[in-house]
Amino acid sequence: MVGSDASSPLSCPPATSPDRRVGVLLPLPLLGPYDYRVPSSLELRLGDYVEVPLGPRRLPGVVWSVGAGDLDFARLKSVVRRFDLPPMSEVSRRFIDWVANYTITPPGQVLRMAISVPAALEMPRQPTICRPTRAGLPAGFKMTPARLVVLEQATVGPARGVADLAAAAGCGPTVVRGLLDAGLLEVLRPAEASESSGLPGPNLSTLDFNRPGPVLSCAQEEAAVALRDRVVASKYAVTLLDGVTGSGKTEVYFEAVAACLAAGRQVVVLLPEISLSPQWLDRFTQRFAGCPGLWHSELTPAQRRRTWRAVANGALRIVVGARSALFLPYCDLGLIVVDEEHEQAFKQEEGVVYQARDMAVVRAWLGGIPIVLASATPSLESMVNVEGGRYALLRLPARHGGATMPVVKVIDLRLHKPEPRRWLAPPLRLALAETLDAGEQAMVFLNRRGYAPLTLCRNCGFRLQCPNCSAWLVDHRKAARLQCHHCWHTVLLPEFCPQCEKGDSFAACGPGVERIAEEIAELFPKARTEVMASDTLTGPNAIAELVGRVINHDIDLLIGTQIMAKGHHFPMLTLVGVVDADLGLNGGDIRAAERTYQLLHQVSGRAGRAERPGRVLLQSFQPEHPVIKALVAGDRDAFLAAEASERRCDQFPPFGRMAALVISSESMEEADTASRLLGRHAPRSDCVEVLGPAPAPLALLRGRHRRRLLLKAPRSVILQPLIRLWLASVKIPASVRVQVDIDPYSFL
Ligand code: ADP
Ligand code: ZN
Repeated sequence: MVGSDASSPLSCPPATSPDRRVGVLLPLPLLGPYDYRVPSSLELRLGDYVEVPLGPRRLPGVVWSVGAGDLDFARLKSVVRRFDLPPMSEVSRRFIDWVANYTITPPGQVLRMAISVPAALEMPRQPTICRPTRAGLPAGFKMTPARLVVLEQATVGPARGVADLAAAAGCGPTVVRGLLDAGLLEVLRPAEASESSGLPGPNLSTLDFNRPGPVLSCAQEEAAVALRDRVVASKYAVTLLDGVTGSGKTEVYFEAVAACLAAGRQVVVLLPEISLSPQWLDRFTQRFAGCPGLWHSELTPAQRRRTWRAVANGALRIVVGARSALFLPYCDLGLIVVDEEHEQAFKQEEGVVYQARDMAVVRAWLGGIPIVLASATPSLESMVNVEGGRYALLRLPARHGGATMPVVKVIDLRLHKPEPRRWLAPPLRLALAETLDAGEQAMVFLNRRGYAPLTLCRNCGFRLQCPNCSAWLVDHRKAARLQCHHCWHTVLLPEFCPQCEKGDSFAACGPGVERIAEEIAELFPKARTEVMASDTLTGPNAIAELVGRVINHDIDLLIGTQIMAKGHHFPMLTLVGVVDADLGLNGGDIRAAERTYQLLHQVSGRAGRAERPGRVLLQSFQPEHPVIKALVAGDRDAFLAAEASERRCDQFPPFGRMAALVISSESMEEADTASRLLGRHAPRSDCVEVLGPAPAPLALLRGRHRRRLLLKAPRSVILQPLIRLWLASVKIPASVRVQVDIDPYSFL
């Protein structure tokens, strides 16, 4: 790697050199940069965004190196042009190389995440605005009513371009152009326009970071001071901000954000599900009197373009986004915050397979900057790093404003049986009734969308299954369809069983939230209830709207999945009932217990967030399970300690290393052959254990047959070189996909 700073005026190679070439990394799965000739008219620096030819196409790329020189200069194609942007920083480039190397992905594929909006490389078309002049009516010019309206709008309305002005005046653009031609309107140049009109230019950071935040409690202030110091010191440091839900972690890290903005540097805050966090945005706006740049999958192309460019040229100083926001080309990143750091949503499972929290720590390390990981239920990974002295720990032990933690009790389903084909046990029904009578709100949690997870024929036992996946079709009764939750395959309920041909024979098995809602409607017909699941709420506005209704107490009873488990602050909610606390415990996944604990703890955290105390009732068949016992005892640390000792014993992560190879093909035979071939060539070493090949738990997914090999090794072993050699040693047909997953989280 060429180690010079992108900000230095290095031209690589010198303009006097006879064969000027550079290595350009393209956003494609290629092994490395390709050499290009630098025309004499161009001066290039490392990190410059350029356009180059590749076959018949022209592609954007980034100047990555001085050129390998292994191709004859005469045969090289020329760089077409340089885009008008500051070069990608050296840290960003090293980060891309680092991630590519770690995840065993071609660097160009990682680059593609960083330049995911090629259109943003072009200079944006500057908005022009029309303004009335003082010129008099030219001879022969007739003032029509339409022209008058336009002039009036241009004089009294906000500054607008031709099209917008015409729209405002309710006429076509030709009317406006007529006035321009007559000299009665003039078009302002972009620079003048943004100065005089206050049009939102590329500088989105009109934030007031000097505004004082709320008065912090002692513990909060101590944590905030520590974080501010780390921002000012501007050195690599990882801090785990560990505080119960409602303890004010957000307020505390906002102090670090303010310090970083005041220092003139950029900040990125990663949230697991940004589009689901309207309350977070409200809080941010209140604190800083402005909006951050957003980065998530639901933005419009224009928003993406604007934000990307403003990040790259430094005009935008704060971005809040989902995991991919980490790969934006920050020119001067000074702080990273990963909120809800334990969330599995930070793991990207497709394309470049990476864990954004871990990569964020790497990014901070490469950039020599502080990073804050915040959670009420930190991951075992982070806790072990705290114990090992690699991460600093800041604790916020109490809820803000004296709100108490809810009391958690278990309802033993072996003793308290719900009625047949019902799912709420008598103690939970009683608690719900009491809560509603007291004029408070309750929430019933079940992490299962739809009406029923399984539909089968009462006559022959036939199960309705997805043709593309090893999964049952889920009954979504409200939408009157059955759907696969993996590939979205959708069917109507068949009239006759495809196996025994009996009519009207299908029965729903087990509950989903819709079915719980049905039961609740029968029990509490007067209660205002609402289902909250990702398929019943589409888009951030729907969620914000529903959250608003809960806060206004227009809803008495919420029934929902995990999307309502996180972040929301409902002051009048005092009871949380968990329909099936055992769901997810028996997954055969090394993190099943940890994940269930985190989720149920988060859900419980919705209860009693204000003056009124909250309670949580967990329905379970396994009250003696360590997860359930820890939740009831409120003893997270004991749970984590037990979990840690178990994993240490088995050398599971974070005490050992793992990697998965998922081999998939549309042909089952091909998948089998390729996975057996890989199995035979697996690395042989005393310290590396190879498990499989075996069918992946979802042996069929979106029409592809999947086999899996797992590698397990002590922490001292670096797996990547072994995997590279391994993959290079076998020839796999192009129709078979081999996906490497370092530190796998999903065992699907
Ligand atoms: P967490 O992120 O730990 O769940 P939050 O930062 O969301 O906690 O705080 C919970 C609630 O308490 C929020 O409504 C927040 O505005 C409020 N809060 C926290 N600390 C303070 C404070 N020092 N002064 C006023 N309100 C606070
Ligand atoms: Zn499917």
